[in-house]
Amino acid sequence: MLTVITPQEARKIIFDRFMPLYTPTESVALADALGRSLYDDIVSDEYVPGFNRSTVDGYAVVASDTFGCSESIPAVLELRGEVLMGESARYTLTPGNCVAVSTGGDLPEGADAVVMLERCEVYGERLIGVTSPIAPGNNIIYKGDDVSPGEMVLLKGTCVSPRDIGILAALGRSRINVRPKPTVAVISSGDELVDTQQTPERGQIRDVNAPMLEALIINSGATSINYGIIRDDENALRRIVKKAVGECDAVLLSGGSSAGTRDLTARVVGSEGEILFHGIAMKPGKPTILGAIDGKPFFGLPGHPVAAYFVAELFIRPLIARMMGSETKQRTVTSRISETLSSNHGRAEFVAVVLSDDGASATPIRGKSGLITKLAHSDGYICVPRDSEGVAKGALVTVTYWD
Ligand code: AMP
Ligand code: MG
Repeated sequence: MLTVITPQEARKIIFDRFMPLYTPTESVALADALGRSLYDDIVSDEYVPGFNRSTVDGYAVVASDTFGCSESIPAVLELRGEVLMGESARYTLTPGNCVAVSTGGDLPEGADAVVMLERCEVYGERLIGVTSPIAPGNNIIYKGDDVSPGEMVLLKGTCVSPRDIGILAALGRSRINVRPKPTVAVISSGDELVDTQQTPERGQIRDVNAPMLEALIINSGATSINYGIIRDDENALRRIVKKAVGECDAVLLSGGSSAGTRDLTARVVGSEGEILFHGIAMKPGKPTILGAIDGKPFFGLPGHPVAAYFVAELFIRPLIARMMGSETKQRTVTSRISETLSSNHGRAEFVAVVLSDDGASATPIRGKSGLITKLAHSDGYICVPRDSEGVAKGALVTVTYWD
């Protein structure tokens, strides 16, 4: 019998027990920082932009010159020249004058607004008519509007996105300190398993878990090492687990995680390290083991691919984020369930759903457990809480997107 804990308790144990990996710090080129976890807070030491810039193509003016003008009575200004892109404005504007400037161009001293071309008329070489008034500050992005020296730009632990790469580039950070990538071992166990390349004989099945878990590990920003398929043999398992613990920061072993005599995972972890829990009150995924061996996290996952996947999404993705000093963000949408789901006898039930295009309707994926193809077509999942009476057709549910 398993003494089960709730998914919330399981998560708490993971966070209490396992800390971010601090060493070795890595310095990577900006282009290689995507998906990595920032080691330091990024504090700006520059102004972005570094000078006042026009946000339109037009004429830099002294705004008060345009007050009261209109289509019928344009404000007539003398054109003093043009600011070239990539060059500083070599003009100091005084009332009655204007300077042509393009989008992103340097704003001349003395100018406090830029009138769009569309609001101007050209009267020959030197005279411009402004046909509608403009307020000071219009169509200008000021020096430091984006960020100023001393401003916190990105927090340590941020998983670097393409947008963050943009900020870092603007600040001139060509090398970035990032957290080490955790290396996560993947082991599959079961006498019935064969490699993906092999054609299974009757009674055999292909190893689904290892490639799937490796993908989730990489997708979480870590590195995976596949230790292959191990037979249901205690000594063989023990050897491979020891090797994996020696070489990696965390170990995932799928199959054999229940409490039966043929289920060897608990025995191996119990003797090589410490079992932190065995059993989570969830469906699928109940026979899950968390252990610590040499201070490193060890997960014994149910062999069932759908169960293994839910456990990986709910616990291993956050564990990897934790090890990288960051946190997973969950994206959710409120939707209406298209079918009634019955109650689930004391275990939180996780059900994959397919969302309608607008997200308003969620169709649960049902049927026999173990249908990995169905899971592949789902968009996310809902949780039916452990003590609920189920969910009635049409009820509002919170759908958590995969990833
Ligand atoms: P177990 O957790 O070892 O009792 O396995 C539960 C079910 O999952 C059995 O039907 C196994 O054949 C299947 N299974 C175990 N490991 C894998 C795997 N790596 N890939 C696909 N199915 C598996
Ligand atoms: Mg097995």
